[in-house]
Amino acid sequence: MYRFPFSKPPFPGEMTEIALGIKWLRFPLPYRLDHINIYLIEDDGGWCVLDAGIHDEHTLKLWKAVLSGPLSDSHLTRLIVTHHHPDHIGAAGWLCHEAGIPLSISQTAYLACANISLDPGSPQDRQFYDFYLSHGMAPEVAELMGTNGLEYLRKVSPLPNTFLRLLSGDTLTIGARKFRVLTGDGHAPEQVMLYCAEDCLFFSADQVIAKISPNVSVWPSEPDGDPLGHFLRTARRIRENLPDDVLVLPGHQLPFYGLHERCNDLVEHHEHRCDLIGEACSGKHLTVSDLVPVVFPRELNIHQLGFAFSETLAHVNRMLRRAELTKAVADDGVIRYCKADHPGSS
Ligand SMILES: [Zn+2]
Repeated sequence: MYRFPFSKPPFPGEMTEIALGIKWLRFPLPYRLDHINIYLIEDDGGWCVLDAGIHDEHTLKLWKAVLSGPLSDSHLTRLIVTHHHPDHIGAAGWLCHEAGIPLSISQTAYLACANISLDPGSPQDRQFYDFYLSHGMAPEVAELMGTNGLEYLRKVSPLPNTFLRLLSGDTLTIGARKFRVLTGDGHAPEQVMLYCAEDCLFFSADQVIAKISPNVSVWPSEPDGDPLGHFLRTARRIRENLPDDVLVLPGHQLPFYGLHERCNDLVEHHEHRCDLIGEACSGKHLTVSDLVPVVFPRELNIHQLGFAFSETLAHVNRMLRRAELTKAVADDGVIRYCKADHPGSS
């Protein structure tokens, strides 16, 4: 059973004390997932910030209100960003500049963000468009996928030119506390999580969230990638390496107890989706786009369709790795999948 020690999140601009020297803020997001959690960890001479929020007017206004309100008597000391998604890294460059603080982040997250900034038009490459069409995607959705880089930059302020690299296995001293740095994959590459053994606290970023299964997507730059394999491996590793009695402090939704159960549930959730795909492909040859409504039976708008496609392909690629599906390319280039007669394992 999950337990939620805080029944409500803090109001935007206010802070909830999680433990002595740990504060929780909540900022709005302009999405269906309409909020992000931001944490402050007491540091020598002030507060270390964990994640920055998206780069939009609302978030900057809230940061200014927090800096001149509840934090007006203290300083920020540094910013840690868990991963390169815009809701976490978006305001990072702005905040580092505004507060005069350094950025700590995994190398992959820093470079992923920098890479999009260097060439935001690259998702419009013909090769990527053809990739989507080969999986049965409608041209209008494929075209929208091409705008991902430009969309990303609309929500992300330019990063500082320098950063401090966080690496799995590092010990990070923040004020009086020591944290072990863990990194996870599948939702975002080299996503940073922090574990404080002494106080049983686990900042899990978007890797383990109470009520949401984090998006796990194949992107056209790595069409045969296996992010779901990485995600499942990370969930198992967290369950094996961390105790069950930690307070999980995620990037979205409420803090909770029940880490091991949540890791098990996430694995089960994705295995169930693989089962659905296997059943649908039994004796039939289907494209990834054919499989989207099997995995996501609800009505999807054109934006959600892109994410749903990428997540469905993540399951297909995992199943191909386990030889549970076979792949066939038709003369017109369209790729279809069928359930394998004798699945192996990997
Ligand atoms: Zn994320």
